[in-house]
Amino acid sequence: MSKLKAILLDRDGTLIEDKNYAFKIEDLEILPGVIEGLKILQKEYIFVIVTNQSGIGRGYYTLEDFHNFNNYLIELLNRENIKILKTYYCPHLREDKCECRKPKTKFIDEIIKDFNVNIKESWMMGDHPSDIQFGMNAGCGTVFLTTGHGDKHLDELKSLEIKPTIISDNFLNAAKKILQLD
Ligand SMILES: [Mg+2]
Ligand SMILES: [Zn+2]
Repeated sequence: MSKLKAILLDRDGTLIEDKNYAFKIEDLEILPGVIEGLKILQKEYIFVIVTNQSGIGRGYYTLEDFHNFNNYLIELLNRENIKILKTYYCPHLREDKCECRKPKTKFIDEIIKDFNVNIKESWMMGDHPSDIQFGMNAGCGTVFLTTGHGDKHLDELKSLEIKPTIISDNFLNAAKKILQLD
């Protein structure tokens, strides 16, 4: 069986407005261009979400809150015929020094196994330098979005010498560039 190509999606600030530890459904707001962008990418790629959710570890919301909120997003996307195959979430704090918090690559290994993914032909899209580092660690193409926290992290990106393949302020434009490069 030939391997699949995947888009690894950060969630907060990438697919939805980053409202700092949001977990209430009424606070869920899909960012401009996301639905359209996912629709054009879906012809060539499968989708998974990879998200750091330290709000769980901090006790800001429960695991159940997280699942309710996340399932609602998946349902909204489903209604647009967009399929998210799985959500990989890290509930830990940075201080926990776990193996699953981006930019650590435990989830990369799981994604490759779970979906028979060709990771070198896959992409990571996110709004934080750790997303880009995560994608680079995996050998993926990377998209840095300035839609969430991305804007304020642009300088950090430069100083860390992290070079995303694509930098964009709009998910749909980023999606089009991915398709041009693939
Ligand atoms: Mg983010
Ligand atoms: Zn973790």
